Amino acid sequence: MAYRAEYLWIDGSEPTREIRSKTKILADGEDPGLWGYDGSSTNQATGDNSDVVIKPVFQCPDPTRGENDILVLCETLLPADMSPHPTNTRAVAAASLARFADQAPIFGLEQEFTLINPATGWPAGFPPNGFPAPQGPYYCGVGSLKIHGRDLIEEHTLACIQAGLAISGTNAEVMPGQWEFQIGPVDTVTVGDHLWVARYLLFRLAEDHGVEVSFEAKPMPGDWNGAGMHTNFSTKAMREGPYENIVAACEAMGALGKPEEHIDAYGVGIEDRLTGVHETQRFDQFSYGVSDRGASIRIPWQVAKEGKGYIEDRRPNANADPYVVSSLVTDTICAALS
Ligand code: ADP
Ligand code: MN
Ligand code: MN
Ligand code: MN
Repeated sequence: MAYRAEYLWIDGSEPTREIRSKTKILADGEDPGLWGYDGSSTNQATGDNSDVVIKPVFQCPDPTRGENDILVLCETLLPADMSPHPTNTRAVAAASLARFADQAPIFGLEQEFTLINPATGWPAGFPPNGFPAPQGPYYCGVGSLKIHGRDLIEEHTLACIQAGLAISGTNAEVMPGQWEFQIGPVDTVTVGDHLWVARYLLFRLAEDHGVEVSFEAKPMPGDWNGAGMHTNFSTKAMREGPYENIVAACEAMGALGKPEEHIDAYGVGIEDRLTGVHETQRFDQFSYGVSDRGASIRIPWQVAKEGKGYIEDRRPNANADPYVVSSLVTDTICAALS
């Protein structure tokens, strides 16, 4: 029987890229091949030269459809010479991984997000007039007064497992209506592939629940936590120790010019989120420390104790492109450790 392949690709929206998709019906036994779309509708081409080619690079079962249906994540290519489209950040991540594959870089990304009530435009759990009780009880909380949208989260987690994604956990976050899931630990390219597909599934399933998903970095101004994409990273040398390798990785991230380069690539609105309060370091300062959630980079306590493991870059925004973050972190740390 014919089956459905949902082709997914990353568009050229500014300042934050979005995921797009469309359906291709494939004959029984037919594999998904090259396809194309109208790049003039995705900020990736002009109307007189509008075709963008999509090339399948990762596929998995589609848990929102039937047993034989699949999701097909694609890279975008220019039809003239089949080279990567300028907005194709996955190609950059693949090049970075190829350069440093001998160091076996791996990532765990913590994707935070906010569920928005479309009727009010406010985060789920915020009353139409006024504010909920201050932050404190919501993080990892339970109960109807604290938790909003858990049905969707449960469905999404199950869908990620059924799709075979490397989802490693979920939790309710500090602000009401805010949640997190984690993808990893997997390599520089795979972490972006799985995170983008997990984002697609979240948006898709949220349609059925009448809620919107926001990756905005600071959806509520004031005394409410922002939404980040903490980036946990290690190489073989960091996982094996000694502790000097962990310190060298932190120092590489703080080298001259590097903090600015990374902040520029970590998502729009980062100045509003990295204020120095709400468990962040200021965007214009760099620091690292053991167990320090007010530092740019946290070294988990077990890592300090065992003298090996990974580090957590706490700066990337929820709205960052995972391929951009993973390629930059790989380049900065692996170049210094090689
Ligand atoms: P937090 O305490 O900051 O909330 P989480 O448990 O949410 O931490 O996320 C930790 C992430 O770190 C997980 O995605 C996990 O897969 C990842 N991780 C664990 N070990 C490593 C490692 N050696 N290298 C990279 N990432 C790792
Ligand atoms: Mn977390
Ligand atoms: Mn978190
Ligand atoms: Mn974290």
